[in-house]
Amino acid sequence: MHAANLLGLDRGAMESLFEGMGHKPFHARQVLKWIHKHGVTDFEQMTDLSKRLRAQLLAETVVVAPRIIAEQPSADGTRKWVLELDCGNRIESVLIPDGERTTLCVSTQAGCALECSFCSTARQGFNRNLSTAEIVGQVWVATRTLETPLTNVVMMGMGEPLANMEALLPALSIIQDDLAYGLSKYRVTVSTAGIVPALKRLREASDVSLAVSLHAANNPLRDELVPINRKYPLEELIPACRDFIANDKRRKITWEYVMLDGVNDSDQHARELIRLLEGTPSKMNLIPFNPFPGAGYRPSPPERIEAFRQRLMKSGIISITRKTRGDDIDAACGQLVGKIADRSRRVGLREAVA
Ligand code: SAH
Repeated sequence: MHAANLLGLDRGAMESLFEGMGHKPFHARQVLKWIHKHGVTDFEQMTDLSKRLRAQLLAETVVVAPRIIAEQPSADGTRKWVLELDCGNRIESVLIPDGERTTLCVSTQAGCALECSFCSTARQGFNRNLSTAEIVGQVWVATRTLETPLTNVVMMGMGEPLANMEALLPALSIIQDDLAYGLSKYRVTVSTAGIVPALKRLREASDVSLAVSLHAANNPLRDELVPINRKYPLEELIPACRDFIANDKRRKITWEYVMLDGVNDSDQHARELIRLLEGTPSKMNLIPFNPFPGAGYRPSPPERIEAFRQRLMKSGIISITRKTRGDDIDAACGQLVGKIADRSRRVGLREAVA
């Protein structure tokens, strides 16, 4: 039998495990704290557990975080970790300090199957889903190096979080658990290209914040930039997003919109966007395009981005231009490229989201 990796068990799962081992479920609380709050992975140091439980944990479970291959600091304070999951699968997570806030950008898949035309992760194809332990492991690794607490987690690294729901949901529950990282629903954000059925499931299972990679306000253009749109077009996506926040008047959807020169950045595009989002509580993140070799797109000039932003602001949509962070270490949006061992396993879009 495969030893359970305790890093990937949320409170409920750990309680069941301990009960199955003949112990009281409340020990889960102690172990969660040891692992996530204190960073202790050696059972011998978990001094409030009985000898018998410690011996059993040692025999039947493990606590294994992804291995750090490289840690790169950027000139602007951003830090990127390259983590090895198994022979050949590497992922990246990025830490972004910004004043009082320290945000970790976490990967949910090795590679990505969605084939968004402007994203470099897409170019390497999809290799596999991360496990809950591998998702939480990124938070665990980052937390160990921090002097100040981690304040925000965004699922905006490599991969499409909503194509990996089985691992994502328990990971969110650990990240939000007071005994682990204790981040509130406003401080945990899942970003998606728009897998509508999974969005509905997420809404039922979790109360995290939602960011949606929109990038275009009409179907023909979005079909091209974000091909998953062919399966879940705007007329399905937008109502699903509205539903997601319907029960909480304080909530807004965060939209991500990459600014591509001459592609989606005209005044006409801004007008279309305003019309599309009418009636949906929204916050707009304009992302300057981060170019990479062979991308085939150019970033919109800063004046164009600002004019676009002003138009949205005038219509009442709070809009900010996202600072490009960590681009000297290829840690900026859409620049994460882990090393994938076997590209022959690259699967097509339809297969991966089926
Ligand atoms: N799959 C998820 C999360 C990962 S991408 C999603 O699509 O939301 C995180 C954000 O970076 C997305 O909004 C994505 O569209 C954007 N992005 C991808 N490539 C980019 C690039 N080259 N420049 C700027 N932003 C990019």
